[in-house]
Amino acid sequence: MSELTYVRASTVSEAVGLLNEPGIRSFPLAGGTDMMIQLRRGEIPAGRFVDITKIPELKSRQVAGGPEGTVLLGAGVTISDILEDTALVAMIPLLGQAGETFGGPQIRNLATVGGNVINQAACADLLPVLICLEAVAFVAAPEGEYCVPVSELVSQPLPAGRIVRAFSFAVPPTAARSVYLRLSRRRTLTTARLSLTMLGRVGADGAIAEARIVPGAIFRTVRRVKPVEEMLVGQLPSESLFEACGQKMVDLFLAESGGRWSAPYKQVVISKLTERGLRAVYGN
Ligand SMILES: Cc1cc2nc3c(=O)[nH]c(=O)nc-3n(C[C@H](O)[C@H](O)[C@H](O)COP(=O)(O)OP(=O)(O)OC[C@H]3O[C@@H](n4cnc5c(N)ncnc54)[C@H](O)[C@@H]3O)c2cc1C
Repeated sequence: MSELTYVRASTVSEAVGLLNEPGIRSFPLAGGTDMMIQLRRGEIPAGRFVDITKIPELKSRQVAGGPEGTVLLGAGVTISDILEDTALVAMIPLLGQAGETFGGPQIRNLATVGGNVINQAACADLLPVLICLEAVAFVAAPEGEYCVPVSELVSQPLPAGRIVRAFSFAVPPTAARSVYLRLSRRRTLTTARLSLTMLGRVGADGAIAEARIVPGAIFRTVRRVKPVEEMLVGQLPSESLFEACGQKMVDLFLAESGGRWSAPYKQVVISKLTERGLRAVYGN
């Protein structure tokens, strides 16, 4: 095993200072639920863990501006913290739905939102939810704080020496409906085999006014599926539209995956999951 040391930071600026100390390679350590597995596999090089779990700024949860205001979610908020915050879950049901399916109680007590986003697993539960909510990340860097959409963190991973302080997103309009669907091998304790996060809204004229769709573990990266979103906006919700969207999702999956061994099984699941999600969001 490689040589590793440990230090605990008590503020964001102290953590950034430690992470950028010359002569030693340092990594942020949050709940450790991904990092400990990487450590056991020998994937963590020699260096130093900078424990960020006791930094109060990373634990904040705030809603500003009422029902259609803005949510600020600290990167160090755990899945259990989210589930215990009944007001937050009532306002943003996607957080509760994804949190409830997440691992077992011990993992939920440790696993943080920030770790879930930075680890960027295709099967992550919170990452697609934050992309669907159009969240931005506030990143603390030696030169100061900057802001980046979570969707961009997937294509351009966070450079070393920085930490995510918090995520922010607008509370969806009251007329919006959302759903988080997840398929896994067993009911609990395993990561998702496939997931689908959807948020949408029907306008006063009965046509679909908004569509956000983020699959997990279907495409190579977790991202919105614009071709399917564009099929929906402006249309009247109908079973035939939902089926066509399910088929489009399958076509996109096959084009990207090149028809791996699991493709026949996944095709059926992807089309049915898409239809089910669309019914939940746009159905009567
Ligand atoms: C048994 C088990 C079950 C699991 N089940 C699920 C599941 O159902 N769903 C799911 O999505 N995941 C699951 N996971 C994976 C893991 O729990 C999550 O990805 C979790 O959210 C990681 O958070 P953490 O705080 O433990 O991150 P860590 O392991 O501490 O860190 C992960 C990575 O993020 C970096 N990091 C952490 N916080 C920050 C920050 N604020 N700024 C910058 N970098 C940061 C670390 O340096 C590291 O590279 C499971 C893991 C295990 C071991």
